[in-house]
Amino acid sequence: MYDKNNVFYKILQSEIPAKKIYENDVALAFYDINPVCKVHALVITKGLYRNFADFASMASKEESKSFLETVEKVAEMLGLSKSGYRLVTNLGPDAGQEVEHFHIHILGGERISYMLK
Ligand code: AMP
Repeated sequence: MYDKNNVFYKILQSEIPAKKIYENDVALAFYDINPVCKVHALVITKGLYRNFADFASMASKEESKSFLETVEKVAEMLGLSKSGYRLVTNLGPDAGQEVEHFHIHILGGERISYMLK
């Protein structure tokens, strides 16, 4: 069950501030408060999904497509399209998911170390 008591839900409700990059019907993009590389953005769904598995199984095809297009658009807006970027989504304890509202990290702006190090 989705629990509204999480920081991204509060950002969606404008109860706490975020450094917004872009917003549309399905998604909100903003900068991560604790960046792990030069450019670190988050794209969160407006729909209430706990994680990737919920999103993949519950979102409509239109919403899924639109969300993925938004992620790509935000990467483009951040100037990462040519230099490249990494997308990450964490699900559950082994991945260290902190916030139980589905989101994708966009990481870039510098050469990122390989995967798990
Ligand atoms: P995850 O481990 O995938 O759940 O990532 C959650 C991310 O949310 C972390 O990278 C945090 O730095 C980030 N975060 C937590 N609170 C905020 C906030 N208020 N504004 C922006 N980013 C946040």
